[in-house]
Amino acid sequence: MSWENNIRKVVPYVPGEQPRERNVIKLNTNENPYPPSNAIKTALAATDIGSLRLYPDPAAGDLVEAVADVYGLKKSEVFVGVGSDDVLAMLFMTCFHSGKPILFPDITYSFYDVWADLMEIPYEKQPLDENFCIRAEDYLKPNGGIVFANPNAPTGEFLALSEIEKIVAGNPDSVVICDEAYIDFGGESALPLIHKYDNLVIAQTFSKSRSLAGLRIGFAMANEKLIKYLNDVKYSFNSYTMNRTVISIGAAAVRDTGYFKNCCKRIMETRERAEEEFRNLGFRFRKSSANFIFVSHPKVPAEEIFRYLKEHKIYVRWFNKPRISNYLRVTVGTDAEMANLFACLRTIPGIAEESGEA
Ligand SMILES: *Cc1c(COP(=O)(O)O)cnc(C)c1O
Repeated sequence: MSWENNIRKVVPYVPGEQPRERNVIKLNTNENPYPPSNAIKTALAATDIGSLRLYPDPAAGDLVEAVADVYGLKKSEVFVGVGSDDVLAMLFMTCFHSGKPILFPDITYSFYDVWADLMEIPYEKQPLDENFCIRAEDYLKPNGGIVFANPNAPTGEFLALSEIEKIVAGNPDSVVICDEAYIDFGGESALPLIHKYDNLVIAQTFSKSRSLAGLRIGFAMANEKLIKYLNDVKYSFNSYTMNRTVISIGAAAVRDTGYFKNCCKRIMETRERAEEEFRNLGFRFRKSSANFIFVSHPKVPAEEIFRYLKEHKIYVRWFNKPRISNYLRVTVGTDAEMANLFACLRTIPGIAEESGEA
């Protein structure tokens, strides 16, 4: 016997690789290829270093206010955290406390089952249909809560708001978390539904559409009662998750909506062109509503393509998991990065033949 018997043992979430090597084309973790808003530079320059001796505002009020202003909400309807991973973990801890199994898709963000295991929350995965779509009916059964990503990851599939409303309206006794990490790339946010349903919470992040994965800011939007419960749990865990610098530069960044919208537009345009290229090379995929495309090739196994690209310093994501092991998730980069990707793919024999260029 030893102290090890008393340890909490978990299988951690494994994020996509962050290669240390330079000059790689990084299309594996859905980061934004464009730099963040210039408003950050101004806000950083105005930072009073002396103020860092003081604890930050535990409510991160300036950042909460900026998000509330941009999304037309009251401050009491917004919660912020250290990336949406922190926000989602707090939501799991706060909202999934019934002891009944929570429901989420079998193919989705792979952090959901990690948090559930960590917090000893029982769960039942609901299989996506053959097109990798969520079936709303699967979520109309007794449960202790529901979480899904829309658009879903790693599929890029968008679920219509009418289907989301069915799930939310059919579960008045459960909190439904809609993880909208990729909503700014062409989807339609379920945000307006929070005023109609008090059991719906929307989680979003600055990491993808606002080019700030390195800063770590995420937020949740819901009715003020739910946000209050969420803050109570947060203050019972760590009052000072957001530091002073992040609060002030994050607030400046989110207010620059023009720059943000333009970046999203450029990424969506590149995505359209990339879909055309993938089609020409014989890849199979469904229309993406995110900043990545989930592709598979009828002739060349995904694992082979993944390794070949990696040898050529192009990183994409391959998940060695049931149902999706023959797919690759390719982040939409700049036009130049995508051109490099397609040039490299054309040198793979089975793919070159498919494109008629062998
Ligand atoms: C990237 C991602 C997140 C987390 O993003 P943060 O960087 O922690 O804000 C959450 N959910 C999904 C589906 C994601 O893809």
